[in-house]
Amino acid sequence: MQITKVCCQGCGASLEVDEAIRFVTCNYCHARLEVVHDTSTTHTKLLEQLDQRTESLARDIKVLKLENELERLDREWESTRQAMMVRGKDGSVSEPNATSATFGGIMAIVGGVAWMIFTGSIGFGPFPLFGLVVIGVGIFGMISGNRKASEFESLRSRYQARRGQLISEIQREKLVSR
Ligand SMILES: [Zn+2]
Repeated sequence: MQITKVCCQGCGASLEVDEAIRFVTCNYCHARLEVVHDTSTTHTKLLEQLDQRTESLARDIKVLKLENELERLDREWESTRQAMMVRGKDGSVSEPNATSATFGGIMAIVGGVAWMIFTGSIGFGPFPLFGLVVIGVGIFGMISGNRKASEFESLRSRYQARRGQLISEIQREKLVSR
């Protein structure tokens, strides 16, 4: 490997290039250069400097578009999330959660059974049947709450995957244009 010094035709910087290399990109102005080996000297010829600028502009626009898409994705997810929020009995709102849906359902079932046993044991007429309604509501709540929680989780993981993809695309574009 033999190193030669050549002058960049784009910005005038002095570059060290391997004799065997035919094309080189300037470290300073990023111009693409052809290394021309004459009998007496080695010099560079400018290639596509304008293309380079156009390319970097196109990349800037691409980054901007990706960033807009990221913002839109975040906004959309936030509105989906808000729409799926579950209101608790105490008025608090939280994300759909399988554990709390199951727990709430079990509590209702236990309450319904207790009601039936209690009202039945003191001979409360038709009232024990009301416990069945409570049990039914508990089972229904448990199933629908779990379904909603799993739907929420799959939407969230899809959002996060897309978000990660966009971020890495943005980073890649920024790295290239530097
Ligand atoms: Zn240069």
